Amino acid sequence: MTCQESEQYIQDFVDDALTGERLEVFLWHISTCKTCYNEMETSYLLKEALARLEDGTSFDLHSELKEKIQIMEQYIRWHNLAAVVRRLILTVAGLFLVWEMMYLYLYYL
Ligand SMILES: [Zn+2]
Repeated sequence: MTCQESEQYIQDFVDDALTGERLEVFLWHISTCKTCYNEMETSYLLKEALARLEDGTSFDLHSELKEKIQIMEQYIRWHNLAAVVRRLILTVAGLFLVWEMMYLYLYYL
């Protein structure tokens, strides 16, 4: 992902609207690109600060942002694990199908 692409996804990330592979690539990009991280941080802080000022609660946005990123990374790990499990199940199902067809072929022909 380039910085230009990353910029397009900052608002979606801040609004929790970024998912799947795009989220994974975006998280990787901001973990390696200080410029984009800072830009994302600014958008996040601005959005959250405005919302909090309205309801008057105290906040520690830097910690909350770190927590948000950790939760998203955890989500990506589960997402990838689920993809591996799905692939494994399909492979086993495919092998059973082949075995079944061989059995039918040998038995009836
Ligand atoms: Zn960047």
